[in-house]
Amino acid sequence: MEQFNTLLKAAECAVTRCNSWNFATSNDRYDVKGLLVLAKTSDSENPIDEDSFYVVSPAGAIGLCEDGEDIDWLFLTGSSTDEDLPATLQTASQIKFCSKCGNGIILGARFCGACGVKLN
Ligand SMILES: [Zn+2]
Repeated sequence: MEQFNTLLKAAECAVTRCNSWNFATSNDRYDVKGLLVLAKTSDSENPIDEDSFYVVSPAGAIGLCEDGEDIDWLFLTGSSTDEDLPATLQTASQIKFCSKCGNGIILGARFCGACGVKLN
């Protein structure tokens, strides 16, 4: 779970992971170009506080963390709407990554959901 100070930086990371997003609170959909344009506009019109930051999930969803703990998911990935997004950063920090393929793994999982490798 990477952290970024601007939505544009977060979007630039997210576009390397998937190529369409749904806005969490509406049915608006964004492609790569649309997301980057929106991120630029948002950063210039509505910059976040110094102690806030954006996070990007392993699949490319973008969230805003305002208090260093709770995550407000803003953009959900269009391809994997079932992604199990953590509600807080503390949960997120417990996510491990598969040693074989690098996919994010929920704590306690016995197999990687992406490549199927058995986990220790
Ligand atoms: Zn894997």
